[in-house]
Amino acid sequence: MPTKMLYLADTYLFQSSAHVEVIEHDEQGMAVILDQTIFYPQGGGQPTDTGTIVSELAEFQVIKVLYRPDGTIAHYGSLLNGELKAGDKVILSINENWCILNARNHTAGHMLAFATEKSYPQLVGIKGYHFPDGPYVEFEGSLNEVFFE
Ligand SMILES: [Zn+2]
Repeated sequence: MPTKMLYLADTYLFQSSAHVEVIEHDEQGMAVILDQTIFYPQGGGQPTDTGTIVSELAEFQVIKVLYRPDGTIAHYGSLLNGELKAGDKVILSINENWCILNARNHTAGHMLAFATEKSYPQLVGIKGYHFPDGPYVEFEGSLNEVFFE
């Protein structure tokens, strides 16, 4: 069943409850699949949210979140203690500062692209990279006729 994406409705939801649907192990490690999530998966030029998934008996540290073609979202990371199993009720918490920084970089990228395309229709934004290590927007086109003719 596809994971309900709570982050689409509210960017500022930093904590919520959920239920574990299934636990999987693949080449990327242990993956926790939930019925719903506030963790933004890596994509659209924006990095993964990080944080924790905590049940009554276990604590799981989330370091990478991936959207999968079947509509589920896989939370990868490491089990700090206890065991997680299908049906467990859990509390999700995301790293608020990291989430806000990434959301701001993403919004800034779209604003930059919008302003640039309005001012110079010769340029079309083709790629946005919103990671904090050096966010940028890539444009296709030329300004030669604007500045050199
Ligand atoms: Zn975007």
